[in-house]
Amino acid sequence: DGKFFVGGNWKSNGTKSSVTKLVEELNAGSVPSNTEVVCAPTFVHLPYVSETLDAGKFQVSAQNCWVEGYGAYTGEITAEALGDMSVNWVILGHSERRALNGETNEFVADKCKKALDTGLSVIACIGETLEQRESGKMFEVLDAQLAAIAGKIDDWSSVVVAYEPVWAIGTGVVATPDQAQEVHAYLRKWFADNVSPSVSKSLRVIYGGSVNAENCSDLATKEDVDGFLVGGASLKGPDFLVIANAFE
Ligand code: 13P
Repeated sequence: DGKFFVGGNWKSNGTKSSVTKLVEELNAGSVPSNTEVVCAPTFVHLPYVSETLDAGKFQVSAQNCWVEGYGAYTGEITAEALGDMSVNWVILGHSERRALNGETNEFVADKCKKALDTGLSVIACIGETLEQRESGKMFEVLDAQLAAIAGKIDDWSSVVVAYEPVWAIGTGVVATPDQAQEVHAYLRKWFADNVSPSVSKSLRVIYGGSVNAENCSDLATKEDVDGFLVGGASLKGPDFLVIANAFE
């Protein structure tokens, strides 16, 4: 649906004790009816979190899945297994996986198709590095990331696009509201021109990169910012709840 979307990407963090505490803090908070909130713990913490997090307020997501179905893929987790465990969302194409695990635009697109075909909803991440931005290649990079995905999927109704400039991730250097809005408006137009006006209108484009409890409300006022994907601040229950309540 068209609600504001707030995702918490816990990345490779969490102990039994910190995850238990975070779930308790989140469950004690409230989430407005205009906002959908999705938490993405590690694979090992997912079953515990999905059983204990208040499903009336929060959904859960994986941070990755495999490109094929069940089979001989040692160490990988399939989209089918996620669905079977009632995990209905998956983050794909995160810049950390692109950079550290060598995931290409084509591979990310194949995973998006696989996850969607399996019935999962996808948070598809795109974003440019500082070098790409400063050398004037930002739009070219974003176009290529999106075109690969658009080349493999037709139905965007279960997709949220996360614009996460790499220079803003984990750096404390958040995009200004105007910087975020500029790119989000560009992406909106890209969808109108390359997919369809109706997808452009209904698709949620969320921002990620150093979002915190202080900067979230200014970003949330921007017309084309439909939510956030939060890293560090999603590990702090009270802060994440402030972000989950950022959209008036
Ligand atoms: P930070 O919020 O820690 O910058 O991370 C953003 C991110 O990568 C979310 O996927």
